[in-house]
Amino acid sequence: MIKRIFSCITIFVCLGVQEQSAYGWGVWGHNKINRGAILALPKEMGMFFYNHADFITEESVAPDIRKYTMNDKSEFPRHYIDLENYHYDGPGMMPKTRDEAIAKFGKDSVDKFGTLPWTIEEMEAKLTAAMKAKNKAEILFIAANLAHYIGDAHMPLHTTENHDGQLTGQKGIHALWESQLPEQFGKNYSFFGEARYIDNIDAETWRCVDSSHTLISALLYNDRKLRKDKPAEKLYKLGPNGQPEKNKYGQATHSLEYAHVYHELLNGMVENQLKAAISMTASYWYTAWVNAGKPDLSDLDPKYLTDRNKKFYQEDMGYWKKGKITGYKVINEY
Ligand SMILES: [Zn+2]
Repeated sequence: MIKRIFSCITIFVCLGVQEQSAYGWGVWGHNKINRGAILALPKEMGMFFYNHADFITEESVAPDIRKYTMNDKSEFPRHYIDLENYHYDGPGMMPKTRDEAIAKFGKDSVDKFGTLPWTIEEMEAKLTAAMKAKNKAEILFIAANLAHYIGDAHMPLHTTENHDGQLTGQKGIHALWESQLPEQFGKNYSFFGEARYIDNIDAETWRCVDSSHTLISALLYNDRKLRKDKPAEKLYKLGPNGQPEKNKYGQATHSLEYAHVYHELLNGMVENQLKAAISMTASYWYTAWVNAGKPDLSDLDPKYLTDRNKKFYQEDMGYWKKGKITGYKVINEY
């Protein structure tokens, strides 16, 4: 069941993520995060998640689909937090919950500045409740969606109002960093990690957001340094008419050479952030399960399904131990 492509769902996903590249990891990154997290789980709960690996992987971009295809306005602020607008001065100074933030800054401002860390914490609480109730549909839906938000929290530009370098003359940097670079160079990444129990979800969530935020200066600085005095033919991939080629979001696509040098200058940043997102996702799923009293999830699926998938699970775990995520294909955006 694992080794197939869901063509109709893929088409739906592709329709759904138009413009998405400027707002989250691309399909490639979100798919890797969700699928990798399944393999990073301990076996006692990993097999249940593995039985539903295709759903969890495809659902990785569902929150972005809600934003664009469904035009669900309430969805937008969940994907980012513009820390500057909250006068950010370290995690300890920030409101503990979305309600506290609304009381302090007002609902309109909070909707505008973003709610990503509070969304992650709310989803973790919901996942714990779903695990306690052993509600299969809710466990899978919430786990997959929580993974999306954790993924977004590892994209540094999701923690700043300068989300596409628009304030520093670097428009297009978002899609370059999150979609083009991992698609072009990700086959050499190593993703291995293991879930661990998180004592303090609030502290860990803010640690992650804070650490993403500190990467922004290097992310922008290296692009600025490279762009300097660079003629368009070096910066962008040129089409037959001599003009920069556009990606499907209408943005100029960077040249392979530019992407390569920028990727080198980032010194493993994209790989590290993807890897950290995978480990954190698995850890949040695992922590919800432990806090729910370690319910036995094996009886939520028919035995024949688990028996059938065991062989594939072993195979994929073999690759995972070498840092590789196998078992699905996505249509690249670049
Ligand atoms: Zn997103």
